[in-house]
Amino acid sequence: MQAFYSPDQALHHPSQFMRLGKLVPAPDLPSRAETLADALQQAGLAVSEPPDFGRAPLEAVHAPHYLDYLQTAWPRWQAMLDGGANAGPEVMANLSPYAGVPAGQRRAPCPSSALVPQTGYYLGDLSCPLGPDSWQSILRSAHSAVAAADAVIAGERMAYALCRPSGHHAHWDRASGFCYVNNNACATARLAAHFGRVAVLDVDAHHGDGTQSIFYARDDVLTVSTHAETSSYFPFYTGYAQERGAGAGEGYNLNLPLAHGSGNAEFLAAVDSGLEAVRAFAPQSIVLALGFDTFKDDPISVLKVDFEAYRAVGQKLRALGLPLVVVQEGGYLVEAIGPGLQAFLEGLHG
Ligand SMILES: [Zn+2]
Repeated sequence: MQAFYSPDQALHHPSQFMRLGKLVPAPDLPSRAETLADALQQAGLAVSEPPDFGRAPLEAVHAPHYLDYLQTAWPRWQAMLDGGANAGPEVMANLSPYAGVPAGQRRAPCPSSALVPQTGYYLGDLSCPLGPDSWQSILRSAHSAVAAADAVIAGERMAYALCRPSGHHAHWDRASGFCYVNNNACATARLAAHFGRVAVLDVDAHHGDGTQSIFYARDDVLTVSTHAETSSYFPFYTGYAQERGAGAGEGYNLNLPLAHGSGNAEFLAAVDSGLEAVRAFAPQSIVLALGFDTFKDDPISVLKVDFEAYRAVGQKLRALGLPLVVVQEGGYLVEAIGPGLQAFLEGLHG
């Protein structure tokens, strides 16, 4: 099994996160990536740096005007307001426009060319600031996912992408929830172009809203998400069972929300339901969006899952027998994500 990671992905170092009306330290620490890389080495997996694919594979699932924004916002922030002297340390929004676009449809580019309104337009919440090295980390994180997809296209049975920053809350033209570019969607689009039908199973604690919205109108990609029930948990506005897709994609999205406080039994039952839908869809490959913020002691968890559940998810994916790309998503208890990944890999390899 090949694994992909670029040390550039640890350069992104957000310092601020607005929570309950207060700026607090950001939980997406660079040490998350280093801990996961250590776990791969302890599992005996060779970790390769992904090739530099440029922006092309990102443009398969994101608006070019949005990627232009992400790529240029930091130097523009520096140039704004007396060379940056009156600006904060990171690019953050101070407004959030109501987009008013139905699921599956696309927004027009931001009508303003100025940085402040563009920041409100493209950064969907206050958990995704942009610092001096953010774009390089974002780009290389996506490249890790694309490289893992290419390994499977080349004939590997499975590959792992150590993606950080995470991706599943990134929409076609909007960052949110610590996510900027949707890494698992980049891998999925790559696989779909090669194999045809691809399923995405997202087992992070949060609804994979960005992935859902990107593929919402497509019938060649089945998106399935198990997650903590969202009426009082991020991303709040999506993740409900009645969201089943639109147009040609009607019936190709499945949300399996879990009651807060659910443990291994409920979580694994939802995973089984998701895999049943995957089998019925009969894809040629699968992408697993793997988060560890379901863990019982994670600082933002509302579920009670432990390492045995991750081992069981690995076993279930092995039993499924499809070409597999694993893309890392969340997990914020740094001491737990390494053992979580190890348990998953043990289950996967039997
Ligand atoms: Zn999450």
